[in-house]
Amino acid sequence: MSLEERLRGLIGAAHVLTEGDLSAYEQDWRRRWRGHARAVVRPGSTAEVAAVVRACAEARATLVPQGGNTGLVGASVPDGSGTQVLLSLQRLNRVRGIDRANLTLTAEAGCILQLVQQAAREAGLLFPLSLAAEGSCTIGGNLATNAGGTQVLRYGNARELCLGLEVVTAEGEVWDGLSGLRKDNTGYDLRDLFIGSEGTLGIITAATLKLHPLPAARTTALATLGTLEQAVALLGLAQQRLGAALTGFEVMNGFSLELVRTHFPQLTQPLAPAPWTVLLEQSDEESESHATLRFEALLESAFEQGLVDDAALASNLEQAHAMWHLRESIPLAQSQEGLNIKHDISVPVSRIPAFVASADAALALAVPGVRLVDFGHLGDGNLHYNVQAPVGLAPEAFLREREHEVNGIVYDTVAAHGGSISAEHGIGALKREELAQRKSPVALKLMRAIKQALDPHGRMNPGRVL
Ligand code: FAD
Ligand code: ZN
Repeated sequence: MSLEERLRGLIGAAHVLTEGDLSAYEQDWRRRWRGHARAVVRPGSTAEVAAVVRACAEARATLVPQGGNTGLVGASVPDGSGTQVLLSLQRLNRVRGIDRANLTLTAEAGCILQLVQQAAREAGLLFPLSLAAEGSCTIGGNLATNAGGTQVLRYGNARELCLGLEVVTAEGEVWDGLSGLRKDNTGYDLRDLFIGSEGTLGIITAATLKLHPLPAARTTALATLGTLEQAVALLGLAQQRLGAALTGFEVMNGFSLELVRTHFPQLTQPLAPAPWTVLLEQSDEESESHATLRFEALLESAFEQGLVDDAALASNLEQAHAMWHLRESIPLAQSQEGLNIKHDISVPVSRIPAFVASADAALALAVPGVRLVDFGHLGDGNLHYNVQAPVGLAPEAFLREREHEVNGIVYDTVAAHGGSISAEHGIGALKREELAQRKSPVALKLMRAIKQALDPHGRMNPGRVL
């Protein structure tokens, strides 16, 4: 019996796709990677996932797990060989339960992030993970990439929001680690091994997630500034004044908002163009008026200290959404402008201005007229430092001919400032070679030993990460 026939017998013929338009599964969000799957398999339960993994192991077929296919590093689609089975988790989409007293929610891996946020909100609680892809990315994908997003400053990344996992191992066994425990020191932390492993160690089928109380009020503001040094100083002031109530601190350079202005002219930008614009968000435990007073006081001090040139405070929810929408439109605006060379880097917050100054200068020298789309989560020391071709140069040719050189410049500068070449998007296929060159040999040896122990036959998402 062929593997395809076996899989049909295990999970139903309707859920094993081998014909028709499979581009939704085979092409990535950035349209940089297009593969061809031996079959697209859509199991409907943990037991079915385990059965699929066992059948693939017996047939010596490799597997690529996929959630919402919004990943940005080429790890969620099959390669071009036509031999990899694409395992979609989308049908595992139940919220299994909420424990209000324990502040936890247990969801299956294929649950869309936005629906998990909604389920928490309906219970009067908050699941704070938030990113622009939340309408289509899944909890399994968020954990497999240890996603960050816009609330990390206060609530941490996906890893910090996860207490337990259920995983199907490379052998097809089910590990039930769905604990809601906040303290558990019984040996090695298996959960933390699978989080951020990009589908290379096992398949996450469910997770127990940490919830938080819903804040009483949220306030949002934009401020324009002349320099990144001022932005870092403003962050320090905001942390000192607002403490844990500061939940978002995003930065956008002039060119990133110019791209939004060009490609989304219908979006109002409340402040005049400036070298840097910061978006601040405060989540207050008391009330709307308390929040507004505190925010106004903060901005007043910032003006007095000469940190900001202009500021706009959202006076209602709609205006707040519009401010966030500006920030979240940057990735789309740059893809409308054409392919670009993306970097997702982190350095200590204190070194952000020096990093940007030296990377900008080195790139301007190497690529006269280069355009830099520089934005991101300044509060976490994480920038999306993206390099767009000079005007008049075809983006495709620029990417093809200059990507290697540009990456070298940016990553050498990152290394010189004690940073990381992937703050939140992961390694995937895109940065595999860079990782092999730049991670310490000892760290790589330990990572390979873990891979060998958990997936000795190399069947889980081969060619990614290591
Ligand atoms: P996929 O793209 O399907 O998969 C991503 C990786 O996880 C692949 O390696 C895949 O094999 C693996 N995987 C998926 N599901 C499972 C599973 N159940 N078990 C094991 N492995 C699995 N990322 C951020 O961190 N912060 C951001 O702010 C952010 N913003 C984004 C904005 C946009 C517009 C887009 C398109 C992407 C953004 N991303 C961001 C990247 C991406 O959305 C996240 O990494 C997201 O967490 C991926 O989830 P997914 O379900 O789409 O996973
Ligand atoms: Zn981001």
